[in-house]
Amino acid sequence: FLPRGGIGCPRIGTFGNLAGRSGPLRVGIRSGTRLGTRIRPARNLIVNTGPLRRHVRPGTWPGPRIVTLHLAAVDLSERRRYEQRLAHLADHDVLTGLPNRRRFDAALAEHLDLCARSGPRGALLLLDLDHFKEVNDTRGHDAGDELIVSTAAVLRGSLRETDLVARLGGDEFAILLPDADREAAEQVADAVVERVRTNSRTLEGVNRRVTASIGVVTFAGATERAEDVLALADMLMYDAKDAGRDR
Ligand code: GH3
Ligand code: MG
Repeated sequence: FLPRGGIGCPRIGTFGNLAGRSGPLRVGIRSGTRLGTRIRPARNLIVNTGPLRRHVRPGTWPGPRIVTLHLAAVDLSERRRYEQRLAHLADHDVLTGLPNRRRFDAALAEHLDLCARSGPRGALLLLDLDHFKEVNDTRGHDAGDELIVSTAAVLRGSLRETDLVARLGGDEFAILLPDADREAAEQVADAVVERVRTNSRTLEGVNRRVTASIGVVTFAGATERAEDVLALADMLMYDAKDAGRDR
């Protein structure tokens, strides 16, 4: 059941029926089959080609009839899924599923590189919830977590696919708008502030004072260093807190 074209590149179907189980695999080769040097089985399957290599040389199989070779196949699907899960955990926040600070820092550095190459564009929004501690204190940590999760959904739902939203930690979120100018960035910030306010009001028992304060920095005219851009956004966010929050 080798596909035409030989063993150089078996079709997925050749080994696909092994998904989920590992063990010996019998391979038949028809005489006249063109053979490659390497076996490339379906993704996530390791096939030990030792015996195949010993019996088979690249070229056209000269055998007069079908032979059967015994190979060992190991299904790696589970391990691949586990590896993907680990890679996801490394740069995502477990509570909200949003990218975490590590991922955000990398995206910011990449964006600053782009600005250096082809001119500054886009904006950074830094958001911190107001009076969030009151939710923890009066309704418990689980209610606080719930508010963080729903805030994450509100942010994600307010932005474009190409905008990056990350949870930096605690009740702090960052938004990278790769193409927005100042006017657009401020419009986004205003809309987000309004939606966060509306959201916390619809959650039972959450204090009406839970709103959002945002600092907005555009990359035009900003410095080239990521730390400085973040520090500036942080300062502006605290200015918003000082000016009465919810802005
Ligand atoms: P402010 O308006 O000045 O921002 O006050 P605040 O009450 O929002 O306080 P602040 O932003 O300084 O602190 C955020 C708090 O969030 C601190 C910490 O106790 C709490 N917190 C941090 N991470 C989590 C979390 O994962 N879950 C919950 N429930 N609370 C968290
Ligand atoms: Mg806060």
